[in-house]
Amino acid sequence: MTETPLPFVMTTDPDWDRTAADTAEVSLLPEGRNPEQADITGPCPRCGHATAWTALLLPDPGSLADGHGLLHAILKEAEGPVKTRDVDVTCDCLEYHPGVIGHGGCGASWTVEVSWASAPTA
Ligand SMILES: [Zn+2]
Ligand SMILES: [Zn+2]
Repeated sequence: MTETPLPFVMTTDPDWDRTAADTAEVSLLPEGRNPEQADITGPCPRCGHATAWTALLLPDPGSLADGHGLLHAILKEAEGPVKTRDVDVTCDCLEYHPGVIGHGGCGASWTVEVSWASAPTA
């Protein structure tokens, strides 16, 4: 059986966000209330190959737009027990996709929402 590899295309699709929400495994490091990094593993929703992605959980990009961004983010952190971040993941599979640019993958990118409890419940 011959399988034609998908061509490398830098593209995105809202369906992949939904697929990845079911299939992605998220590990937050360090574990606890102030994770700094999310390790996301699982099949790429486009090509189906195993892929892994590490994202730093920086303060919301929007809140960095002004000079008070960091303080703003810290204040926001105090507000609610559950924090969420949308992490943009790009396929980084090890399989060959024709036309690949750079290190690999099929070019697909999607968004995984990660969440964690940030504040002690009083
Ligand atoms: Zn692939
Ligand atoms: Zn892929």
